[in-house]
Amino acid sequence: MTAVNPCQGERAPVHITRYGDREFRYQIQYLSNSSRASIKVHVHPNGQVQVDAPDNASLQEIKAAVQRRARWVLKHLDDIEERNRDVLPRQWVSGESQLYLGRRYVLKVINDPEQRKVTCKLIRGQLRVQGKALSPERTQRAVREWYRDRARDVFQRRLELMADKLPWTKATPPWRIIEMQTQWGSCTPEGVVLLNPHLVKAPTKAIDYVILHELCHLEEHNHSPHFYGLLDRFMPEWRGVKERLDLRVEEVLGGRL
Ligand SMILES: [Zn+2]
Repeated sequence: MTAVNPCQGERAPVHITRYGDREFRYQIQYLSNSSRASIKVHVHPNGQVQVDAPDNASLQEIKAAVQRRARWVLKHLDDIEERNRDVLPRQWVSGESQLYLGRRYVLKVINDPEQRKVTCKLIRGQLRVQGKALSPERTQRAVREWYRDRARDVFQRRLELMADKLPWTKATPPWRIIEMQTQWGSCTPEGVVLLNPHLVKAPTKAIDYVILHELCHLEEHNHSPHFYGLLDRFMPEWRGVKERLDLRVEEVLGGRL
């Protein structure tokens, strides 16, 4: 699991780069109509290495560019492995932490024999689940429902704000939440924006970035230079936001909702 581009790229042939006694595989994504663009190397949070290159770049140029970034790529791959090692399965007991809008909250499970209906509330830095005979499964279900409610609310507000800023969205487009294994968001050919409820764990800025990415697809369906131009225009700092979101992916998605 774990990918994490808002949208997935197409499959491309795999190449190998060696550095010292190590090697890594990467895929090349050729960008059309972008003869002036430079070759960019990305490490996705699932460890996949992707190289974006203008369509007039030769394989030799691309390989040289990847070689120059090899040390950086391997460092990223090591970091990913390190982070994955730390992701432990959740027990759904008091003391575990939960993320919401980029901040950590301590989970507090309170067994209350008097309370039939399980509640989940954010109170003074704690995510408090309260109810009768709370098993880990019941606690998990309550937290999951809470995240979905928060996601509906937060995404609606952020979508309205973002749609307001963009000249091509006259009103908030139709949207819904859907749990996706490999994407934060998506946009259907009919123009329906799909958002992963896990995204509500990330900071607001990251949510805005994913929403903006999908709303830009209403104007430009592909990841063309024009598409990235729109992102640059409406969120000039989007690359940094995306990078930080990608770095935290295991943390955000690791604790399965
Ligand atoms: Zn996309």
